[in-house]
Amino acid sequence: MSLADITRRLRAAEAAAGRAADSVTLIAVSKVQPAERVQAVLDEGHRIFGENRVQEAQSRWPDFQARYDGIALHLIGPLQTNKARAAVEMFQAIHSLDRPKLAGTLARLAQERGASPDLFIQINTGAEPQKAGILPEIADAFIAEVRGLDLPLIGLMTIPPVDEDPAPDFRMLAQIAERNGLAGLSMGMSDDFETAVALGATHIRVGSAIFGARTA
Ligand SMILES: *Cc1c(COP(=O)(O)O)cnc(C)c1O
Repeated sequence: MSLADITRRLRAAEAAAGRAADSVTLIAVSKVQPAERVQAVLDEGHRIFGENRVQEAQSRWPDFQARYDGIALHLIGPLQTNKARAAVEMFQAIHSLDRPKLAGTLARLAQERGASPDLFIQINTGAEPQKAGILPEIADAFIAEVRGLDLPLIGLMTIPPVDEDPAPDFRMLAQIAERNGLAGLSMGMSDDFETAVALGATHIRVGSAIFGARTA
């Protein structure tokens, strides 16, 4: 697989779903990938990347940003409150808003800076105890709480349980978003992004299918 293959498959999935070409944002998940693979994807013209750790992003991206224009970084992994400031300075979007305390911290930073990354609330659609995210039954209340903080909430994100059909989780995420008037749906990874696009994904997060298996 490569960026070109994934882009072609994404265009086909958009067309099959009756959706406009380019209506889905492809986030190339570069976490743990060697710099030369990331550089190759930059050289192919891609500019939207996902990282799951603030520190890893801080150590790698300033150098690329000095050499390539227009890079947009999305944080897709869990965010500790004490890393929130670094995260809002580095990322254009955060997909892992998952608790009131973090929302409060992001709101304070937004007021102080007069700007905030776009935010997605992570929903634990599978209600898995070990997984981050807001449980579906309290999603509506948390969405209202975040909106009350005047944060730029644009959508919802899920990571479905592994080794299960992801479609019910994608449908659930789309339903929660729809009844709350949220347009953004961050769902779909290397193995299931076509299903996610068919069910309304606006942002897909694809790592290994673009860059190859993660070795670290
Ligand atoms: C690693 C990761 C991805 C990408 O996974 P692939 O299977 O390599 O496409 C997507 N979303 C999140 C939250 C991740 O941590």
